[in-house]
Amino acid sequence: MSILQVNKLKKSFDQLQVLKQISFDVDKNDVIAVIGPSGSGKSTMLRSLIHLEEIDGGSIAVHDEFLVNEGIYSSPKQIKQITSRMGMVFQHFNLFPHLTVVENLEIAPKLLKDGNAQKNRKASLELLEKVGLSDKADVLPAKLSGGQKQRVAIARALMRKPDILLFDEPTSALDPELTGEVLTVIKDLAKERMTMIIVTHEMDFARDVANKVLFMDNGEIVESGNPLEVLVHPKMERTKKFLNRTS
Ligand code: ADP
Ligand code: MG
Repeated sequence: MSILQVNKLKKSFDQLQVLKQISFDVDKNDVIAVIGPSGSGKSTMLRSLIHLEEIDGGSIAVHDEFLVNEGIYSSPKQIKQITSRMGMVFQHFNLFPHLTVVENLEIAPKLLKDGNAQKNRKASLELLEKVGLSDKADVLPAKLSGGQKQRVAIARALMRKPDILLFDEPTSALDPELTGEVLTVIKDLAKERMTMIIVTHEMDFARDVANKVLFMDNGEIVESGNPLEVLVHPKMERTKKFLNRTS
């Protein structure tokens, strides 16, 4: 079952064309790894899906409802409703520094005007337990390690009970010894069959956890397929060159 359909996305920043006819589908339970060199448009693509960037052309549909249809955006109300089904985790965590950990989670449904305070507190504490941070509920983010901050960010994204979770290089800002704890949380989500798109430079992780890999270069999806096809037996010269460079 297709959850998200992306068709011929185009996006420019002034003269620079950053996305050139990007098309792909996400099925329920897919874990899609997006790889590619810096500047290839990975973040812009991901941000477009959740309406943090507006595209210039093409379509994005979630559960067959258009966020944008051939370059025409739906109403603000529909956009809010559609994007509320998605969660996003950023490279730099983006936690609110003045709120405690549990308040950072509670803010998600508050912003969507969803649920009551007691219910949200309970859900927040359950998710903190899930990411192994029950004991940090009442501290400020500044007291946490990078890995812990990112686990809070993942728990916060889960507060929206998203149909699809988007990750933009979730471990790139972390010291190497802290990446494992974050990747473990994402692997656990994959085991629970959460639908995810993960932009990552961690090739071993992509091979282990993803069922599809997209290789982007220069605003295009150059090659896509299962991890074996794209990461082990790539067909395209550009993919081979990228993989050789990073290995
Ligand atoms: P990636 O995530 O693959 O590194 P990005 O999507 O961040 O790539 O960026 C793609 C290109 O778009 C880069 O050349 C980048 O400099 C440019 N870009 C990204 N965001 C902006 C912006 N807000 N304004 C102008 N150019 C941007
Ligand atoms: Mg990026």
